[in-house]
Order: sequence, then structure tokens, then C-alpha cells
Amino acid sequence: MRARSIVLITVDCLRADHAGFLGYHRPTTPFLDSLAAESFVFSNAFAAGVPTYYSFPAIMASRYPLALGRDVVGLAPGETTLASVLRDAGYASAGFVAANPYLSSRFGYDSGFETFRDFLDEELGFEHRELEPSPKWRTRTNQSIARACHSLWPLGAAYDEIYFQYCQRIASGVELSVDKLRRFPSAQVIVDQGLQWLEEFGDSPFFLWLHLMDPHAPYYPAQDALNAMDNSSSGSQARFLNSFWNRHDVSASRLKRHNEDLMALYDAGIRKVDIEIARLVDKLRRSALWDDCVFAVTADHGEEFLDHGGRFHAPSNLWEESIRVPLLLHMPGGRVARHVKSVFSLVHLGPTLLEAAGTRIPAEFHGRSCWSALQAGSAFEGHAIIESVGRCGNPLRLSDRLQARMLAVREEQYKLVLDFGSGREDLFDLRGDPGECNPLYLSAEKGTRRRLLGRAQAHLTESAGRRNEDHRLAARIRDLKFQWAAPRARSYAA
Ligand SMILES: [Zn+2]
Repeated sequence: MRARSIVLITVDCLRADHAGFLGYHRPTTPFLDSLAAESFVFSNAFAAGVPTYYSFPAIMASRYPLALGRDVVGLAPGETTLASVLRDAGYASAGFVAANPYLSSRFGYDSGFETFRDFLDEELGFEHRELEPSPKWRTRTNQSIARACHSLWPLGAAYDEIYFQYCQRIASGVELSVDKLRRFPSAQVIVDQGLQWLEEFGDSPFFLWLHLMDPHAPYYPAQDALNAMDNSSSGSQARFLNSFWNRHDVSASRLKRHNEDLMALYDAGIRKVDIEIARLVDKLRRSALWDDCVFAVTADHGEEFLDHGGRFHAPSNLWEESIRVPLLLHMPGGRVARHVKSVFSLVHLGPTLLEAAGTRIPAEFHGRSCWSALQAGSAFEGHAIIESVGRCGNPLRLSDRLQARMLAVREEQYKLVLDFGSGREDLFDLRGDPGECNPLYLSAEKGTRRRLLGRAQAHLTESAGRRNEDHRLAARIRDLKFQWAAPRARSYAA
């Protein structure tokens, strides 16, 4: 079989239940819905970790995120990746990442790519903007007042409210469009780069990876996507909503009042992704590259909108809204929609793509290909392991990385969540309790609990047994190099 090209599109923060082809009620993905009608559509696909830095090792290297040790974040130097396997098989390869710092060369994500751009150097006119009032705004006097107020409740709450309103008044003096306020390059920029690259190489099969950030907070969707969603929010309104959503000093009920409006901005970000993927596919179809192309769209994790009280995508929350992702796989000549209900971990995506493209699967990959089962239309044994370090909000800090592990085992009906920090162990029956509101009593479903605990234990043993110490050491040495070069490295949203 002639080697097939692979296009992999990963969308940051795209939760499965906001994709039209998985049943969402708003028109977020009209183009992908039409593509789904001739693709494999996975309704139970799961990220291997949350957020980006715990999800991507599984996507790009088919490796569980904590398998090199909790002290390692990112891909290790020398680690076998989807890109390196394809490069060795003679593929041309390119990766374009919309300025997610955790998917940069700093964390090894350029590995194996001939062409790689992460847009963190503010090229193409993209400017990184600080959107929230930075500590610099606060004078020393102001900081002293803040400290004094916070030592005396309820003065602290009053201070926070006044300070927020003050910042809003300053910000409202400058009217900016959502396109000016955006923090990441839009999907349009990334797709343009991909298309330009596709025009430049010859006849070899290719691997193109695009990582899109449009649904990521702060939610400033492109104006054309807002129009397409009939959303009339102005830049000022979007800025107010984003600033309010960032507050940690207001009650859940106050946040809830803005939940729908924030979600509408988030949905428009998804629509922008859909618009640009439509443009990419149209171009591929016209150039006939489409006829030899395996085309995959998925996400690194979901996003929380107070479903369980949380916002954004914290590593401590392994709820469905955070871990369930869309996955759409289009094969050359795809004509019929195939709905895949088996539980599928993204750790299996790389091997599945490689087999579908006709390329060897390296032994180092933790996942296995489901391509044969997909072709046969048969179900495959399905459970997914999702793991993270619950309190690792800033993986640039080693002390954060070494906090306690979280681990979830997800089967079709049951889900077990283990918090190694608190010792908490929650088992959910998702058929009866899809909202994960009522963990089962310890005395209930003993056989199920035993089976899922067994899967967790097997995963931990296998992970430790397969640890590649050379890769771990190489990653630690790289960390030291960066820490030495940038001792005051800032934290990033992921
Ligand atoms: Zn992410």
C-alpha cells in the first residue's frame, strides 16, 4: 500500500459535548458535522491527562504523561514521537502551534519535525498582550491597602470589588475589537501557515500537525465567528466577561450569572476552528492531496463552565467535561459515517494513525492500534486511564510537578477517580449518574470497584516497569538548562 499522508488537528480546550456531531445544540461545527457524515466519529474518546502538559505526551508520543516520572513534563529529548517515526519513514513534516508555550521546543514538541513554528516569538504581527491588570499596576501604597483590607474580613471583599471596578473603568477607556484583544494567533493564521507549507514540498507523503487555540481562555473569538454564531458581543463586553470570569473573590452564584455569555464566546471560538478547517479541507480536496490523506481532528482536553464548580481546565479535575474530547477520523475515500462507541484513549491515536497510514508502529509506544477493529466495524476492549498531578498549576516549578497524582479509570459505564493526595476514591455509575453527582457507596458495586482498582494498579505497575531512565535524565538536564537560562520563568495558561 502506498504510504498515506496524515493531517492531525488538535484543538485546545474543546470539550466533546460542544461539538455539533456529538449532539451539541448550537451550530459550533457545521463543517465538521458534514465531514462526520463520512468519518469515524468517536463518542467516547478521552485525553490521557489534563491540561495540555499532561495530555500531549500521549497524543504525540503515545506515552502516558507521568510514565517518565512526575518530575518530567513534555517530551524527552530523543523520545520516539509520531513525527520522528514518520520522518524516518520518509515523510515531510511540519507542526504549527498557536502559541501554547507547553507545546514549544522548550518541552520537546519540535522533535521530529522538519518545519516547526510555535509563534511564541511574536512573528507575523502577533503580539502577546497582558489582558488582566498586572501587579505592576498596583503601586506600593495600593498593595499595602490591599494587604490591610484582606486582613480584616469583609473589608477584603469590598477592596477586591472596588479594585475590579476601577480596572474595568480604566480598560473601558480604550475600545478594542475582539480581534485586537485575542491572546493567541487565530486558526486562520495557523491554517494559512499549513497551506503555505503544503505548497512548498514535492511528492512525498506528509505529516502536518496544527494546534489551534481559539476556544482557549481568555475567550476572544474572531469577529467572523461571532457573526456566524449571531453573537453581537463587542470587544468591551468580551473583556468585561473575561475579567469577571477570572475573579477568585466572587461567589459561585455571581459567576453563574455570566456563565451562558462566557460559553457563547467559547462556542464562537469553536466555530472559528470549524471555519478554518473547512478552508483547509477545501484546499486539500482541490489539490487532490485529500485522496491520500488520513485526517484527524481531536482536542487535548475539555473546559469547565461551573459544571462542578470549576472554571478553565485544572489538572485537579478529571470530570467528564475536562477529559472527554471529540475525535473524528476521516480516511481516504471515506463515504459512510461510522459511530464508534467503545472507550478510546488518545494514547492509542498515534498507533492507529500510523497503521491507517501504512507505517510501522514503534515498540516504545504505550498505545495500540485500533485500526483493524475500526475497519471491521467491531467493538474493541475499551477503558481509558487519565492521569495528572492535581496541584500542578505551574509545571515550570519542580515542587508543583511533585505534588500528588490523580488518576481516573474510565470504562463505558463506570469511572473511578483516585486522588493520591487526599486518599479519596470515587466510583461513578455514569449510566445512572451522567453528571457525576453521586459517587457510589464503598459497599456498592464491589466487583466493579475491584476491577477498576485493578486496572489502576496494573497501569501504575506497567508505567513504572516501562520507564526509560535515559529519557528521564535527558529531560531533567534540559530543564536545568532552561532554569539556568531563565530563573524567573513565568507561568502560563495551558
Ligand atoms: Zn490545552
